[in-house]
Amino acid sequence: MKIIAGNWKMNGTSDALHTMITALNDVETSNTVIICPPFTMLGVDGGRVALGAQDVSAHDHGAFTGEVSATMIAASGAKYVIVGHSERRQYHNETNDIVRAKATAAIAAGLTPIICVGETMDEKNDGKTMAIIESGVRECIPTDARHVIVAYEPRWAIGAGLTPTREEISAAHTLIADTLRDMGMDTTPILYGASVKGSNASEIMSIDHVDGVLVGGASLKPDDFIPIITSVN
Ligand code: PEP
Repeated sequence: MKIIAGNWKMNGTSDALHTMITALNDVETSNTVIICPPFTMLGVDGGRVALGAQDVSAHDHGAFTGEVSATMIAASGAKYVIVGHSERRQYHNETNDIVRAKATAAIAAGLTPIICVGETMDEKNDGKTMAIIESGVRECIPTDARHVIVAYEPRWAIGAGLTPTREEISAAHTLIADTLRDMGMDTTPILYGASVKGSNASEIMSIDHVDGVLVGGASLKPDDFIPIITSVN
């Protein structure tokens, strides 16, 4: 059983979400399926599809215009929240410390954070991939956290139609698994994300320590997302 999560980013409509949920509820699968649409589309019944948010405030309530708290997300019925996505790091300067604070808030509200780590192209070219991944895992996961998901997303490959080699994915996921074991969190699922599609999903999910995928562009339409979900069981 794998975890297949879709990150809609700033795309879609409530109608599109309804269409997706209806289509996914007809799919025969034992996989866990999660959709993370924009905040305004949360609060609906996903049936067998779990819903998640794409970001969360580190604060619980108060004068933080534009922010949405973990308590509010949980009250909408959502179960998950993505934290530390590459685009949050790039456009909102989120650091590992900020990501950890957001993950802490999520856990306190009963949400499962999907904590993203991964290297930029410059970091890859400088030979820093493994160091960035390991420090991401160690610095973003709150102490004593239990229910978290880690997503390895090579930032240079997101939305670019590029994928690392099988060996690169394997090395990254083995390092994350070893780091999590060292932290006493060896049952934590590890997702791979970046340019996953129906044609490469089953091969990627056959790699050791790949417990599922986080999908961006290919999660927006049932015709693209369903083949990813049904590529593994
Ligand atoms: C993402 O943004 O998390 C992602 C994986 O995007 P894409 O699948 O489009 O590369």
